[in-house]
Amino acid sequence: MIVVSEIADLKTIISEWKQNQETIGFCPTMGTLHDGHMDLVKTSKGQCTKTIVSIFINPTQFNDPKDFDAYPKNTESDLKLCEEHGVDLVFLPSVEVIYPKSQTPIQMSIPSLQTTLCGRTRPGHFEGVLQIVSKLFHLTEPNYGFFGLKDYQQYRIISAMVEELNFPIRILGVPTKRESDGLAMSSRNLRLSPKDRETASLIPRMFQLAKKTLLGGEKNLIVWKEILTDFLLTGSNVKIDYLEIVDPITLQPLSNLNGELLLATAVFVGEVRLIDNEVLVSP
Ligand code: AMP
Repeated sequence: MIVVSEIADLKTIISEWKQNQETIGFCPTMGTLHDGHMDLVKTSKGQCTKTIVSIFINPTQFNDPKDFDAYPKNTESDLKLCEEHGVDLVFLPSVEVIYPKSQTPIQMSIPSLQTTLCGRTRPGHFEGVLQIVSKLFHLTEPNYGFFGLKDYQQYRIISAMVEELNFPIRILGVPTKRESDGLAMSSRNLRLSPKDRETASLIPRMFQLAKKTLLGGEKNLIVWKEILTDFLLTGSNVKIDYLEIVDPITLQPLSNLNGELLLATAVFVGEVRLIDNEVLVSP
């Protein structure tokens, strides 16, 4: 496995691969890797001849500096996991490499998709995501980009950017990998106290309840949302950032429960903000 930190070294390898007609799959991450990230790698390896993982905690997507400072770093075990899973190249740049001081700041946004859900409570977050992902796309020149559906809004916004700006890249969404109690795997789970970790299992159970009530024929959106909110709030130390039912393409609120819908939530358990998303189909 090749590990590079400098853009020039990365570019040399990419141009070799391009000359050899390799199909490049790219999985951008912020490290503290787990089996969820490795599902992106596995999907990439099934589809591509070379797989790149980037590990970069992107400062421009954190609207809260405390959250950025608290973000865990585990480079050694990350590299080991990547090697074990047959990653071909890890790009591990410093902040200075990605954002040199000489740079003129640029801001990207897709307003209709990023003023809802996480975009509403994390101003500037998706501008930072679009900035880093487009930079990394230009640096790694992948044929495919792999994104987790746990972060559905991110997946949707990146897909829209690629489509609107004609990036020659196919974006594939990878299903959420879950712990045995259903909690979506996340680097942030490590920050939960044992008690809060138990409470966090309310989130996947809320999704189960959502499916059950939907299949049971509940059609009233307000009632449905109330049932789910009340269920989450049975946990102590729980604060709901948002719980929304939106159109999976436009991310705009739905007025009735018909066909495909995205159930999206962000919940604070103690200090830790956890998100989960699932596309459900109303019968
Ligand atoms: P992160 O390191 O949290 O920025 O995540 C990097 C990529 O891994 C993103 O595309 C995430 O959506 C994806 N990812 C994170 N957790 C999971 C998971 N539990 N299952 C599948 N993909 C995930």
